Amino acid sequence: MIRDTLERPLRNLRLSVTDRCNLRCQYCMPEEEYVWLPRADVLTFEEMAQLVDVFADLGVDKVRLTGGEPLLRRDLDRLVRLLADKPRLRDLAMTTNGVLLTEQAQALRAAGLHRVTVSLDTLRPERFRLLTRRDTHPRVLEGIATVARLGWPGLKLDTVVMRGVNDDELIDLVEYGGGVGGEVRFIEYMDVGGATLWSMDRVVSRREMLQCLGAHYGTITAIPEETSAPADRFRLPDGRVFGIISSTTEPFCRACDRSRLTADGLWYLCLYATHGTDLRAALRAGATREELAELIRSTWQGRRDRGAEERLAQPDRSPLIQIGELKRDPHLEMHTRGG
Ligand code: SAM
Repeated sequence: MIRDTLERPLRNLRLSVTDRCNLRCQYCMPEEEYVWLPRADVLTFEEMAQLVDVFADLGVDKVRLTGGEPLLRRDLDRLVRLLADKPRLRDLAMTTNGVLLTEQAQALRAAGLHRVTVSLDTLRPERFRLLTRRDTHPRVLEGIATVARLGWPGLKLDTVVMRGVNDDELIDLVEYGGGVGGEVRFIEYMDVGGATLWSMDRVVSRREMLQCLGAHYGTITAIPEETSAPADRFRLPDGRVFGIISSTTEPFCRACDRSRLTADGLWYLCLYATHGTDLRAALRAGATREELAELIRSTWQGRRDRGAEERLAQPDRSPLIQIGELKRDPHLEMHTRGG
């Protein structure tokens, strides 16, 4: 196990398999045009698996596939199979927008994917259209229903809560989650790269969310947990559980053991970091497993990042990165880095 300058272990890897997405969510990809990663730079599944092996050598035991939209990467079940074969990975999960889930759920589960998190910001199709500029809401709900039908455990539903957009759906979403056997997690709207329309007044804080849910359900109890998971979990009086990820108003950098690998092999130590380490270059130049391990080890050991806490300390908070810069370096985009 290796630790950074704040004694945080390297445990958790978000592996982005593509920067492409089939939705254009207001809070993530609000622009008309995007600069995509050159195809030749995108890692093959074998290269990804090779890098995951090195991360596992250093203590990573949780991998989450993300994107872009991971289900747009052709034959994703093949990558899942390669990773599921590694007993050192205790947790192999995926975050998806669910649009292509119905078609792929069975194969992914059979390949060994442990669990799925589906992003679901609204239960209303017309609102989904406004939020994502796409018409595929029924397919998302069908994807979630497919996971439920398969009896696939560990389903989570992630909702980015935005004032004036979907903040009147918290209770409906908790009820819906109960119906499909999924744990709902409300995410505070974050000022990450790509969120060019972000402003503090659109953020619904964890405190407000708890007030709203408490007013409806009664006393909400925090569940004490000793984990590095981003969500704090709470119990409703009837025993149902939900989570809140309060990265914007109550960040948790001190416990962050996560890092992110983009589809083209750049490794970022923080969602807010502006520079990554080029593992693709090292890999394709023929670095040995030990040389790659040394690059990762020394980089992690120098890690000081506390991006979300530093953002909180900013007096006038506005979008992290302006559009010109995002166009010059798409690695700064949340959809490239993987959420
Ligand atoms: N396409 C997949 C999906 O929709 O889940 C995976 C990639 S997406 C970038 C991963 C997560 O990041 C999603 O749950 C999304 O809601 C979240 N996300 C993106 N931009 C965000 C923002 N500005 N604030 C909070 N969460 C955000």
